[in-house]
Amino acid sequence: MRLTNKVALITGGASGIGKESAELFAREGANVVVVDVHEEPSRNVAESIRAAGGQAIAVGADVSRSDDCRRMVEETERRFGRLDILFNNAGIMLGDDDDAERTSEATWHKTLAVNLTGVFLGCKYGIPALRRAGGGSIINTASFVARLGAATPQLAYTASKGGVLAMSRELAVIHARERIRVNALSPGPLHTELLMKFLNTDEKKQRRLVHIPMGRFGLAREMAQAALFLASDESSFMTGAEFLVDGGITAAYVTPE
Ligand code: NAD
Repeated sequence: MRLTNKVALITGGASGIGKESAELFAREGANVVVVDVHEEPSRNVAESIRAAGGQAIAVGADVSRSDDCRRMVEETERRFGRLDILFNNAGIMLGDDDDAERTSEATWHKTLAVNLTGVFLGCKYGIPALRRAGGGSIINTASFVARLGAATPQLAYTASKGGVLAMSRELAVIHARERIRVNALSPGPLHTELLMKFLNTDEKKQRRLVHIPMGRFGLAREMAQAALFLASDESSFMTGAEFLVDGGITAAYVTPE
């Protein structure tokens, strides 16, 4: 097993990438804290992990709220004694997120609050806990849209993910000597609720699919496998990196630097 005796906190753990990662990390021996703003589904995830013989608890928290982030870390240390892996994965993509003219200020602020401030607050309270554990791994979920303009605009979302990417690099440099690694996971377009709700017509789905060399949406399970590598000691010399798991979309469109 690749995460034996490790304690992992996963935000957005009730659904999609977070849920798949919670289940996979638990199968690999981790004690998992499933954090989500939706409490009932996160309790269901924790229960199904325990039913399968794993260790997990659920914590209801809104990552855009400072008190909630402090509490999720406190609860982790209280129940499992330490924190080794912090997966800041919770994110939203709101339906009216569009171009600059059409995106409302409310959507802009809400998206930045969850997707960017949420990662900042996770780190604010998580880093001291990782330090107490003697080091650890932070994984921040960014997105391929931080690198290339999307055909279907989602300005607030894209800006938030660009911020996650830049913040991850800087955190990696700051904390490298403390044995705290920080990497960003940048998924390509996935077949999860988040994107399917946003690309809510066949035309919009096709417009996105046409850009993906593999010709299909990725699966949350495939992101969980990548997160597992970043969480485990197998990636021990990797920090400040962006792990692109995107079906080739950026390779097809981004000019080499
Ligand atoms: P998802 O909607 O299935 O899961 C996101 C989870 O985050 C949900 O359970 C939701 O309840 C939770 N959440 C939302 N707001 C929260 C808050 N304020 N506090 C705590 N939890 C909150 O989506 P997913 O596709 O699994 O997305 C996970 C991450 O991957 C997100 O950061 C998303 O931006 C990113 N991502 C997704 C795609 C994609 O195509 N689906 C592509 C690139 C990046």
